[in-house]
Amino acid sequence: MQQFQQYIGGVFSDGSARFESRDPATGKPWAMMPEARAADVNAAVDAAEAAFLAPVWAGMTASGRGKLLYRLADLVAENAQTLAQLETRDTGKIIRETSAQIAYVAEYYRYYAGLADKIEGAHLPIDKPDMEVWLRREPVGVVAAVVPWNAQLFLSAVKIGPALAAGCTVVLKASEEGPAPMLEFARVFDQAGFPPGVLNIITGFGAECGAVLTRHPKVDHVAFTGGPETARHIVRNSADNLASTSLELGGKSPFIVFEDADIESAVNAQVSGIFAATGQSCVAGSRLVISAKIKDAFLARLKEKAEAVVIGAPADVATEVGPLCTQGQVRTATDLVALSVAAGAKLITGGKPLERDGQYFPPTIIDCSDAPDAPCLSNEFFGPVLSVQSFETEAEALKIANDTKFGLASGLFTKDLTRAHRMIRGIRAGIVWVNTYRAVSPIAPFGGHGLSGHGREGGLQAALDYTKVKAVWLRTSDDPIPDPFVMR
Ligand code: NAD
Repeated sequence: MQQFQQYIGGVFSDGSARFESRDPATGKPWAMMPEARAADVNAAVDAAEAAFLAPVWAGMTASGRGKLLYRLADLVAENAQTLAQLETRDTGKIIRETSAQIAYVAEYYRYYAGLADKIEGAHLPIDKPDMEVWLRREPVGVVAAVVPWNAQLFLSAVKIGPALAAGCTVVLKASEEGPAPMLEFARVFDQAGFPPGVLNIITGFGAECGAVLTRHPKVDHVAFTGGPETARHIVRNSADNLASTSLELGGKSPFIVFEDADIESAVNAQVSGIFAATGQSCVAGSRLVISAKIKDAFLARLKEKAEAVVIGAPADVATEVGPLCTQGQVRTATDLVALSVAAGAKLITGGKPLERDGQYFPPTIIDCSDAPDAPCLSNEFFGPVLSVQSFETEAEALKIANDTKFGLASGLFTKDLTRAHRMIRGIRAGIVWVNTYRAVSPIAPFGGHGLSGHGREGGLQAALDYTKVKAVWLRTSDDPIPDPFVMR
């Protein structure tokens, strides 16, 4: 079996324990991973703290940090194929997607490389004579970054990039499900020339590795992507170290289609919105909210496309939908669909695991128009399952779209400009895509509210979130300060 190592203080090691990683396409173990226990976590945080304080990093100019990040971006681009193959092998995410996504990950590092020397302080027009007051933006300190398995290289880039640009140091905990691409990324990072300890990469299980890391007294900020239940643990842990948190959580995003939409474009966007990445995407457009006037025609076309999707091995370039990453997801999808049918929802296609080796669940569409309490409408599947609800009026469309505790993404298909503006104002989500879906860029902020978390990744604000403001007061008068206790 292939062997992987953790990366602490610039040194590769096996970790206190080892665990097997399974290939989701076969369900069989294929590699041994380092399991970070408390001792490894402590070592990684100590290394990050030492690097944060060391003059070689603390004294480096912002442009110097930017140059290292540019070098990292080039290395990621050069190694994209190896990283993509490992992500596909260890998580089952199809090679078409991992290849395209990792090539674009390099652009995130490039964006934050360019931003490093543009994180500016400010001068204040203070209301006192003989006084200069300015604000310094300083790195927040040691960052704990915790990511899930579904797009680790991407989800870690949106944390590592801005954190290092701002001058922080990082301990990144890769997911225990499919950590191979992150552990290989450590080898790529090691060639970029950063001082040891600036980035440390470990993996392990949430209960020990994740918990010890996120409540560690030397951690200043926790940047987390994952599910809402884990986020609650993280926020409770932050009661110990009082670290600030940014939380990128799940979603149950509405995909709203009005009767005047370009139907073929909307169908294609909906197919990619829910079936791309086998539905294992936080921004999956998992609730189709469709005008009753076009529902039957739209669903017929959607069903045709869903049933034509090529399901296969993730490493095959022809594959459009691969296996789910974990056996637990297959069980969740199967159970939630069955419960929803029992609650009155109508299965249009899919709904049961495929009878073949591996963790395959087919593209599934379930019409809940007459089953408003079906559990598939409120639970995140993290799988290729689309729930459908129809509406008669614009107000009803908005009400259905906002009937969720999540608030991450949303899609809106209409050619009516004034209606689009009204809907954009009314939708409660961090992202509204109009006549498109799933577009991302390092330049645009990404994040949500409610059960989808708080804080934004991407864009300038993300880099500022890795800084703290220091107010500096400097008296410019040479006159002696009078003794305050001598009455005049
Ligand atoms: P998860 O919450 O189970 O795990 C995420 C990470 O948290 C893993 O590394 C895990 O080991 C760690 N963890 C688990 N328990 C912990 C604890 N007690 N303390 C600290 N860390 C702990 O999530 P998952 O099932 O791996 O991923 C799927 C979830 O991630 C979905 O809800 C999905 O929507 C969400 N997600 C969100 C975004 C976004 O940007 N908003 C992107 C991708 C995925």
